[in-house]
Amino acid sequence: MAGGVELGSVSTGFRSIFFMLTPNESSFEKVEDVPQYVEQATPFFIVLMVLELVVGVLKTGAPVVTISDGLTSVSAGMISRLPTLLMRSCELSAYLYVWNHYHLVELPWDSAWTWWLTFLGVDFCYYWLHRFAHEVAILWAAHQVHHSSEYYNLSTALRQSLTQQLTSWLFYMPLALVLPPSVFAVHIQLNLLYQFWIHTELIRDLGPLEWIFNTPKHHRVHHGRNLYCIDKNYGGILIIWDRLFGTFASETDKVIYGLVFPIRTFEILYVQLHYYLYLWKKSKTYKTIIHKLATFSNGPSWRPGKPRLGDHVNNPKVTGKEVPHDPSWSMPLQVYVVVHFLLVLGTYHELIENKTMLSQLTLLGMTCYVLLTLTSLGFIIDQRPRAAVLEMLRCVVMVTLHRYSCIKPFLPLLAVPTEAFVSLSLLYWALQSCSQLLSIKKKAA
Ligand SMILES: [Zn+2]
Ligand SMILES: [Zn+2]
Repeated sequence: MAGGVELGSVSTGFRSIFFMLTPNESSFEKVEDVPQYVEQATPFFIVLMVLELVVGVLKTGAPVVTISDGLTSVSAGMISRLPTLLMRSCELSAYLYVWNHYHLVELPWDSAWTWWLTFLGVDFCYYWLHRFAHEVAILWAAHQVHHSSEYYNLSTALRQSLTQQLTSWLFYMPLALVLPPSVFAVHIQLNLLYQFWIHTELIRDLGPLEWIFNTPKHHRVHHGRNLYCIDKNYGGILIIWDRLFGTFASETDKVIYGLVFPIRTFEILYVQLHYYLYLWKKSKTYKTIIHKLATFSNGPSWRPGKPRLGDHVNNPKVTGKEVPHDPSWSMPLQVYVVVHFLLVLGTYHELIENKTMLSQLTLLGMTCYVLLTLTSLGFIIDQRPRAAVLEMLRCVVMVTLHRYSCIKPFLPLLAVPTEAFVSLSLLYWALQSCSQLLSIKKKAA
């Protein structure tokens, strides 16, 4: 059915972001034939982010994104997709299992009816998955990553959770009883892709479309920490679910973005995992087992004696004048971080492209290297005391990998400057250590 369509074409890739594919061009018999729409969309993400930056500067006179926040968001997006290097997505694996063992009917994969029914089914399940992710603290521990930016721009869309996929698959299981996996595999991707372009402040109002679709205007509310924004607008592509189930709020006051208690850090593993530790510590403050368990199963704001979702009386008051956290760091440091981020982005791209040709061990090693790099760059942005030591260690690993890795290209053009940089840094580090040692000795004398 879709055999004649050039799936890698610019048009298909671009339209896939806006849910503008027809059933005819996006129906497949086998799961293996379904294109990697999300991976193919990466160039369009970049083009649209640059466009947003340019239009933002022209319109408001200031960039809509900062280096520190933007890089942290893209890093989170990279980390969230690292598990796909080693295994098929949890959602699809679980879906295939339930379909193979328990499906009740087999709707035709090449019918437009099946396609539209799957679209509605996936979006409906996404609404509930998303609502649970906000209303159950242990699920929120995963989903809070997406809300941890105090900015709202296209890069925020990429700020995804590493651990959310461990539970999100559960919500789609009812669909596996009737809807073919190959159709599900298309819609699970299109649903995610649609949610990219709505993360912008530049599109203010879309008129009648606001009634039916989740739009930038509605999703801004979802990312707000103002009282009227909390636990509102969960929809993926359609906003009708929120209107139906009483969770809709329209944009009124200026939205202040981010977590109720902002984390003010760019260290990526902390961004991903800190809330699990917080919940564990919170549960330990309660004496009864019921209260301990409720810490994980009730809403994030719950306290003993409060309703299931808690109340928000202790939230910091939103005045509308809040300024997002942005570290003051020197221009050379910014250039350094950006260059090394681009280098690791190149490595990451190579990994995704060549994943089927590499051994599990190489994949695991390179995954660790990507994680180490992103962590180290986060340490630098945060200007932590140990940032220099960690970065030095990482540079040594990078050069070793470059020399001995079986991943060929590794941005050869940049290999020489990188090695030169590492050598100079090591020299600088050694000199600095010596001068510190000398000054300590002088003081002692
Ligand atoms: Zn959310
Ligand atoms: Zn969002």
